[in-house]
Amino acid sequence: MYKQTCTNLLDLSRVEVNDWLNSFDSVISDCDGVLWVYGKPIAGSVNTMNQLKKLGKSIYFCTNNSTKTRGELLAKGVDLGFHITEDSIISTAHATAAYLQRRHFSKRVYVIGSEGITQELDAVGIDHTSTGPDVMQGNLGEFMSKHLKLEPNIGAVVVGFDEHFSFPKMTKAASYLSDPKCLFIATNTDERFPMPSLVVPGSGSFVAAIKTCAEREPIVIGKPNPAICEFLIKQKRIIPERTLMIGDRANTDVLLGYNCGFQTLLVGTGIHQLSDVQQWQDSTNPEDKKLIPDVYLPKLGDLLPFIMDAMVVENN
Ligand SMILES: [Mg+2]
Repeated sequence: MYKQTCTNLLDLSRVEVNDWLNSFDSVISDCDGVLWVYGKPIAGSVNTMNQLKKLGKSIYFCTNNSTKTRGELLAKGVDLGFHITEDSIISTAHATAAYLQRRHFSKRVYVIGSEGITQELDAVGIDHTSTGPDVMQGNLGEFMSKHLKLEPNIGAVVVGFDEHFSFPKMTKAASYLSDPKCLFIATNTDERFPMPSLVVPGSGSFVAAIKTCAEREPIVIGKPNPAICEFLIKQKRIIPERTLMIGDRANTDVLLGYNCGFQTLLVGTGIHQLSDVQQWQDSTNPEDKKLIPDVYLPKLGDLLPFIMDAMVVENN
């Protein structure tokens, strides 16, 4: 329905929105910029998701944020009032550990990231380096001759969000990756975080730095790579064409929807706005066309009155 037309749901009649609500059974929502911003819920989001669940939709939270485990994301969601279970959380930290586990990975992982990743690796029994500061000591010559020590048995470099990103970490990661057998995995490639009046680098910025000096392309686990939610399709927990992907960032969320054959809803409470969509609509680049969502809402909470309507219809 409304395939890649960026139809504003607020321009439709109640009957039309009701038909649209009936066109999907599962909802996969991005978190930052859709449900909450910087830890605070976005007005109406909690109620909207809970009411969608009440309406019989299966609900999934899908985040590229690699700093938290599924358990931590669950605790955060429940704390904010969302009616969710750990089963409904799809995270890159978990998906990264699951990816290595599926490959029967038995070496050690060099981690540029946070404990969200290392705890998920621990959960599947995969050995890894520790996270935290690895600061430059002395000048370059001193660092190279005295302080730079590479560990044996590193079989993968995983790069996620790391607030202690540093020159030594870059040097080590690229050196491990000079062995072509060493896996190069990026949890996600989001360039920055949605925050008012500040630019906060996201994992994608660190990944770009590593891939530039390693001269290699990473395997990207997070959105828009279908790897992050393939298990849901394989286990028949969702039917792609009857699944709605909600997001605030087109090059991850909407593109994931495009790549998986989901319906897509862009909300204007995060990264991308209608003005961005207009540019992609005007563009002649076919890649840009993939970023155009089916439908749009200024914020997720705008859906609430329509859901309440649908419930009245269902109950009569
Ligand atoms: Mg987002």
